[in-house]
Amino acid sequence: MQLNKPKLISCSIIFIIFLNIGFCYAQEHKEIKKNLPQTLQRMHFIIYHNDKSYANKVSWKAEFCYKKIIRHFAIDGFRPWEKKSKCRIYLFENRDDYIRLSGAPTWSGGCAMDDPPRLFIYKGAPKLIENTLPHEITHLIFHLLIPREKIPLWLDEGMAQYEEDDWDNGYVRGYLKNSVDEGVYIHFDELFYIKNYPSKQEKKNLFYAESASIIGYLRKQQIASLYGNFILKIRHGKSVDQALKETYHPKFKNGISDLEKYWIKYIQTKY
Ligand SMILES: [Zn+2]
Repeated sequence: MQLNKPKLISCSIIFIIFLNIGFCYAQEHKEIKKNLPQTLQRMHFIIYHNDKSYANKVSWKAEFCYKKIIRHFAIDGFRPWEKKSKCRIYLFENRDDYIRLSGAPTWSGGCAMDDPPRLFIYKGAPKLIENTLPHEITHLIFHLLIPREKIPLWLDEGMAQYEEDDWDNGYVRGYLKNSVDEGVYIHFDELFYIKNYPSKQEKKNLFYAESASIIGYLRKQQIASLYGNFILKIRHGKSVDQALKETYHPKFKNGISDLEKYWIKYIQTKY
């Protein structure tokens, strides 16, 4: 099913590669440039590649995602990568080159690193354009706002999943509705405190679907800029519970418990 492997895999890679920071980046870039000598610049991205046509496609999709994601964050003046430091995308010709030159695990389908923000992808990777690109660009943008380790996992993954092209399809909606109807969804007092990716596949699927659905639900509340205010409160160190109470008063005046109550009603009536 659509909710499982690619997302979790790419995020696990982010985690692994975060540990490999700083000093070796210049060397990494130099080595990759030998393999990908051509560059294509857009407003927010620079693509290193060997295939102008494919790079063109990736670049326009990346720009489209950027605009959508920034609009969804709804934070005044937040427009990263507009001037000097664009986000780099390394588009490898094949999976072997990608594995060899990115250092990513062999089971991965793409990966991203934060400092500096960069994506490693390869031609023909499953769901690259539809899912991997928007998902990983969302993470990179989010981590510019709030350091990754300070973002609740459900919020980081929910937002990234929410930006994928096909996350909100009939299958996912039916799956979530059934989970809610049967009372087997992940209750928010657990979901919002999850620090490690669930190991069981069923719970992983629920984790991603629920988290994305909650983001969608929050974004529908009143005016879009409220979601931006909510994110800024998290950025300033407020807990999710406190940020909900302060941003969405009076609707979620009791924080997480009110959000859960309204979200369940929303799933039962709208899904
Ligand atoms: Zn992710």
